[in-house]
Amino acid sequence: MTSTATLPVALDAATIIATINTGLFIDGAWTPALSGTTFAVENPATGTVLAQVADGGPADAELAIQAANRAQKAWGKTSPRSRSEILRRAYDLLMSRQEELALVITSEMGKPLADARGEVAYAAEFFRWYSEEAVRVGGDHTITGDGKHRILVTREPVGPCVLVTPWNFPLAMGTRKIGPAIAAGCTIVFKPAELTPLTSLALVDILVEAGLPKGVLNVVTTSKAGSVVEPWMDSGIARKVSFTGSTAVGKLLLAQASRNVMRSSMELGGNAPFIVCADADLDRAVDGAMVAKMRNMGEACTAANRMFVHRSVATEFAAKLAQRMSELSVGDGAEDGVNVGPLISEKALLKVQALVDDAVARGASVVVGGARTDGAGYFYQPTVLGNVSPDSELMHTEIFGPVAPVVPFDTEDEAIALANNTPWGLVGYLYTQDIDRAFRLGEDLEVGMLGLNTGMVSNPFAPFGGVKQSGLGREGGKLGIDEYLEYKYLAIPR
Ligand code: NAP
Repeated sequence: MTSTATLPVALDAATIIATINTGLFIDGAWTPALSGTTFAVENPATGTVLAQVADGGPADAELAIQAANRAQKAWGKTSPRSRSEILRRAYDLLMSRQEELALVITSEMGKPLADARGEVAYAAEFFRWYSEEAVRVGGDHTITGDGKHRILVTREPVGPCVLVTPWNFPLAMGTRKIGPAIAAGCTIVFKPAELTPLTSLALVDILVEAGLPKGVLNVVTTSKAGSVVEPWMDSGIARKVSFTGSTAVGKLLLAQASRNVMRSSMELGGNAPFIVCADADLDRAVDGAMVAKMRNMGEACTAANRMFVHRSVATEFAAKLAQRMSELSVGDGAEDGVNVGPLISEKALLKVQALVDDAVARGASVVVGGARTDGAGYFYQPTVLGNVSPDSELMHTEIFGPVAPVVPFDTEDEAIALANNTPWGLVGYLYTQDIDRAFRLGEDLEVGMLGLNTGMVSNPFAPFGGVKQSGLGREGGKLGIDEYLEYKYLAIPR
């Protein structure tokens, strides 16, 4: 189904946002925060306030987790097919409203409309995929070695889940968790990011329209994350936490999870190496670098953060990349022809500028960009830095902006040592035409995902996740539903 066939003629963001419920969604009903307070959601391109959203606190959190608890038993016993059909209807509804949702995403998060449309399709696919997986949860049966017992292994929903998501993919980070949780038969308490709650609130109505029973999904928006999430973690009711966000907050939640020994899935930060070998197809590598670096303005955990390029091609690679970067149009993502929207906040912009200044002070050359754009707003120029020193600060932290630092290397061993010199291990990218080198380097890279001659790894069909301090568990693909299922084994004498 295409979106355009069903669209009203004049589709504008303000009209759509005015239709979104901005309360808390608890036990199947929209309600204001018990405190009566709200917080403002702004458009990062313009600074305009888009909406006031209910500002939940501990008392609201308590109502939400109690609702999830009451709903769990019956929900866990619904037929897999009925859960599957809810997800499939939600997929259809998401795609039929692709344009509206894209406008909401662009308004509150800033990414260009074309990228926002892509996010809706990506997000919706998690619902379609898990609608298909819901009916394929199997088990196991064996006979013990001595022949005296049957062992029957079954799968059961983990129980009520705490889901917490970041602002950079406001729809997809939610559906990547909600899809498998619904498929597995878990109930949910969900806290979306403070900066981008509107997309998640719009998603609630879609799931309700798709037939999700009351109490299964409970959403509490808040400006004080800890005041809502910590009571859930300490409730003794929630059996699992699935978090996407920074490693610092992930560690905090792991510590909280330990108090009730909760199952934990952590999708945390990255520091992706992008390695271009001497034999790489350079134009293909530049194409891949544009995707790996510039998707979401560089505000992605998968963003190529460090570009290690063989010295023999480093200058040429940097020049070609700079040419492509200089052709990008920076501006309000809602405007036609814009490829690069604003960063999420003034704080984010200042961080990017400080990282570039530090690299330049340590000897890097600015091949293109290197500053915020003229005028108001949180806009930063697409930037390529050449000859970056490996001890620069931006090599050791997520840049989360449109800045590509190019570091020359001489040997494979040096490239691997540089790439692995980080506590993170989410994703890596490798460009080479030599199959032996591809496997050799691929095995040595400490990452959960590797893009081999491609700049894109995010895919609902694949197990997304990292090693080291990039997280625990996998989202998407066949493995994603396992995060929401427990094993139970029955011993039966024969
Ligand atoms: P963040 O600051 O860690 O926030 C993520 C979520 O955690 C938000 O909902 C936030 O609420 C909440 N939170 C903050 N403090 C909390 C606390 N004390 N207790 C409970 N929840 C708390 O991360 P972010 O800046 O939104 O997102 C960027 C980070 O996410 C980057 O590090 C990026 O790499 C990572 N990320 C990882 C993946 C992945 O799949 N591995 C995907 C996307 C992003 P507020 O919004 O209210 O602060």
